[in-house]
Amino acid sequence: MAPKTVLITGCSSGIGLALAVRLARDKQRRFQVIATMRNVGRSAALAAAAGPALGRTLEIKQLDVCDEGSIRACLDSIPGRHVDVLVSNAGVGMAGPLECQSVAAMQSLMDTNFFGLVRLVKEVLPDMKRRRGGHIVVISSIMGLQGMGARGTLGGATPPLSPNRDPPPTHPGIVFNDIYSASKFAVEGFCESLVVQALRFNVAISLVEPGPVVTEFETKLYEEAERADYSRTDPETAKIFTDLYLRNSRDVFASLGQTPEDIAEHTLRVIEAARPPFRHQTNAAYTPMAALKHADPSGALVTDAFYKLVFKYDAVLRFGLRAIRLLRWKSRKVKAGVRLLGFK
Ligand code: NAD
Repeated sequence: MAPKTVLITGCSSGIGLALAVRLARDKQRRFQVIATMRNVGRSAALAAAAGPALGRTLEIKQLDVCDEGSIRACLDSIPGRHVDVLVSNAGVGMAGPLECQSVAAMQSLMDTNFFGLVRLVKEVLPDMKRRRGGHIVVISSIMGLQGMGARGTLGGATPPLSPNRDPPPTHPGIVFNDIYSASKFAVEGFCESLVVQALRFNVAISLVEPGPVVTEFETKLYEEAERADYSRTDPETAKIFTDLYLRNSRDVFASLGQTPEDIAEHTLRVIEAARPPFRHQTNAAYTPMAALKHADPSGALVTDAFYKLVFKYDAVLRFGLRAIRLLRWKSRKVKAGVRLLGFK
């Protein structure tokens, strides 16, 4: 069977890079990968990781998801504009108190995370419809399903704080990802609305929904947080963000974070499925949280659960995170030992 042409956006780092390499180095050579990035000057890491696959099963092309012209030029450079699988991966993050973020920065995030996807789909869907076949895979986020408690299991409603009181000694949760979460909700709504029409033309749409993943995404978040000007918010909110959120966020990533390679494996499973799922969550730790939301349409159950988790059982939560980290460390050691002894 001819290899499938897979176009992936945002391949200079993280999940995009790992997926491009995973598909291009597929032992059965099932994929021809077009790994795209905004700035091809940043392709060294991908080229190194791809090794001999570069120029054979993987080629690198320029594509900026915020620039319709660059998307069209990239598609036009592909023979017959033939793309079997589009993976919309490029994305940016934003965290912090709302009042410290400019509307221009929020619009720019929406332009990448949401309109970037819309531009890509507008460009590839007509060809896929004409051919009566194709698959659009979107790297969304568990935060596209649930605004609170998402990128960690730990979000929650912010309790009313008295102005004279220190913030509670608790995890603030993922309460500062409002705009990022909104962009992923937009992505999810867009795909939910489109999926049935697409199916009529034999085009599948799949949302991959990771929890925390240890990539440059996280590093950029911390760097930006360190540079941010918190004078626009009150000292209490600034303290919750810097002293609690950022510190605990690191714990969440260290305890529950997956690797880009993990997400690449999950995405591969979605791509190769005979009947691709519409949704695929990559981190089982988050499934109950997402389910809670649907168990109670009033939203009270999930809000209450997160509130208690965050503000009443914080110590249990922290202990849980450390225990998970220890278990994962032990399991990695055991796996390394098994490999050392020559077992698979
Ligand atoms: P990353 O920062 O390593 O990768 C994002 C990539 O998108 C970068 O290569 C960046 O250059 C590219 N990009 C940004 N703007 C672009 C544009 N205008 N045009 C083309 N490329 C552009 O981070 P990542 O974690 O690999 O993120 C990949 C996707 O995974 C994103 O959509 C992100 O929202 C999603 N995600 C990440 C996490 C996480 O915790 N890291 C969790 C859930 C979902």
